[in-house]
Formats: sequence, structure tokens, C-alpha cells
Amino acid sequence: MEKRTEIGEIGEFGLINRINNTFSNKNQETILGIGDDAAVLQTINQVVHSTELFIEGIHFDLAYTPLQHLGFKVVSAALSDIAAMNAIPKQLSLGIGLSNRFSVEAVDTLYEGIQLACEEFGVDLVGGDTTASPTGLILSVNVVGEVDSSKLVKRSGAKPNDVLCVTGDLGGAIMGLQALEREKQVFQANPGMQPELEGKSYVIMRQLKPIARFDIIHELNSLGVIPTAMIDCSDGLSSELIHLSKSSNVGIRVFEKNIPIDDETYLVATEFNFSPLTAALNGGEDYELIFTVSQADYEKVSKIADVSAIGFITDRPDEQILIMKSEQIVPLSAPGFGK
Ligand code: ADP
Ligand code: MG
Repeated sequence: MEKRTEIGEIGEFGLINRINNTFSNKNQETILGIGDDAAVLQTINQVVHSTELFIEGIHFDLAYTPLQHLGFKVVSAALSDIAAMNAIPKQLSLGIGLSNRFSVEAVDTLYEGIQLACEEFGVDLVGGDTTASPTGLILSVNVVGEVDSSKLVKRSGAKPNDVLCVTGDLGGAIMGLQALEREKQVFQANPGMQPELEGKSYVIMRQLKPIARFDIIHELNSLGVIPTAMIDCSDGLSSELIHLSKSSNVGIRVFEKNIPIDDETYLVATEFNFSPLTAALNGGEDYELIFTVSQADYEKVSKIADVSAIGFITDRPDEQILIMKSEQIVPLSAPGFGK
């Protein structure tokens, strides 16, 4: 049996010490991290701040989410909002609510994932709060980034004739979730069953380990391109496009044939009698970037391998439409899930 140490044995301060001892700060903008009443940060640029709250049973299910992946995912998901402002992430603080279901070893595993994400994205864990929770696990992730004010990108800057772009591919994360949910039900019905996840590794990783797209932020920067508007894709393409179009007071036309969907997403969707297009439009949790660029800048952006042009911006704010492969025109709709 694996060793299990109760959190009560080391206490809240023991736990904070344990966290503090495994993390070290790397950014020069971090003046003071964990250990005082507040962290101290220094920056010459504008500061971008965002919070993301994750509640067990609402945002994640520990029946099929390994704690290390969960740690990585909450950081990556929170940082995706910093990427969507065209900013560079620097620090994070993380509040945690723990019930006595969780051992010290389980918390260590969760923080291993948090640490992996901190290293991947170059951010310092500068603080947090630790408290008891009656049953579930609660994680509140606060992230800080910086950006030169001339490079800040909001949702509101899209202009008629701009090219609408999206990074990576869409719909994978929701199909990964479907596959994991089905395995959970099979396992509950018969705990002796082996999981049937062959041919689903890509979509499962899309669900369990999303990667915030700072690679694209760096590429755009090195090409000298500043998007006119940007938003990250956490709730599904439709919903994000409606936000972008409303904020910018412009219309949007998207072409079904240009929406990037991975082959595995297609196959898994077909197996589950799910429309791949619906997965891409309404699935959510892909954490890709959706952005607009001027026609002049699009020439440079088209050189980035992992970016697809999916449509363009119009001067009709009431028009948010999808042009199907059949040439049928349907309005984009967003059944927001509140996540
Ligand atoms: P206070 O009572 O002043 O809020 P705490 O005992 O809650 O102090 O926290 C002490 C220090 O440990 C602070 O620097 C705080 O940011 C940090 N801290 C507390 N919990 C965590 C955590 N889960 N992860 C990282 N740092 C934490
Ligand atoms: Mg505190």
C-alpha cells in the first residue's frame, strides 16, 4: 500500500513549507514570494491579472483526472487568459481548499503538476492560501503577466475585413472528456474492466493536459504582428466568436471547411455519434487562441504552421454566421456552460 500521511500530522504551516521548499523563483520581476503577508512584484510594463476557479464536481472529476494532470491543467488554463491579452506570464498564486480525503502525498502529486506548468511557462508561484473544505477540492488560480502597453490586445479591436484566425485544432478536449466519462461508467458498472482508451490518446491529452499557446504569442511577436483582437477558446468557438464580435461591434463570417479538427477528434466523435463540428463549435476547453489580424499582417501570419484562417470580419454587427460546406448559412449560437 502507498504511504498515506494525514494533512493534520504536518498541519497547514507544514504543508505551506513543503510547497515553498519545492518551488523557486526565476523571474527578476519577483521581488518577494511565498512566506510574508503578501508577495512583492516589480514591473516597468502594464500588469495583466486574471483569476480562474476550479471546483471538484463542476470543473473536474478525480475519478479520471490524475492529480498531476489537474495541477498542470489549472495553471495552463489560467495562463491562457494572459496569452489572450498578448502578455507574457510572470507569477501565479494559488488558493487551495482541501478536505481530509486528501493526504499529504496526494497534495505533493498535485503540486508536481503545478510545478511542471510553472517550469513550462516560466512563471513563479509567489503565494496562495490554504484552507479546509468540507468534501471537495477547490483550486483558485490567480495569474499575473506583463505587456508593453503598445502590444496589449483586447477583444474589442477587430475591424471589418480583418482575417479571423485560430491556433491548433478544436473539439478534441470535449471528445477526450466523452471518452473518459464513458470509461468511468463502464468501470462503475464493472470494476474488473480494463479501460478502452486505445486510439484516443490525443483527445484525452487535449482534455487532461491543455497547453496555453505562448508559442504563438512569441511567434507573432517575432514576426512583428499585433493582432487587432484576441480571445482564448475555453467555452467553444461559437461562444468566443460571439464575445469577440459583440466587444468589437463587428460581424463575423466563419467557413466550416476551414475549421481545424484533428483526425482523431473526427474518429472519436463518429464513434460517439457526436458531430465533430458541434465539438469544435460548442465543446470548449481547447484553450487555443482566436485572433484577428489586418489583411496586410495576414501574409506574415500565414507562415505560422499551426494557425488557420477560418473566416473574416464584416461591418454588420448583427451578423455572426457560419457558412457550411453545403453553402447553407447558419447563425452561430452559444449554449454557454458557465465554466
Ligand atoms: P496569512 O495568514 O498572512 O494569510 P498564510 O499562513 O495564509 O498567511 O500564508 C503564509 C504564506 O504562505 C504567504 O506568503 C502565502 O502567500 C503563502 N501560502 C499559503 N498557502 C499557500 C499555497 N497553497 N501555495 C503557495 N503559497 C501559499
Ligand atoms: Mg492566508
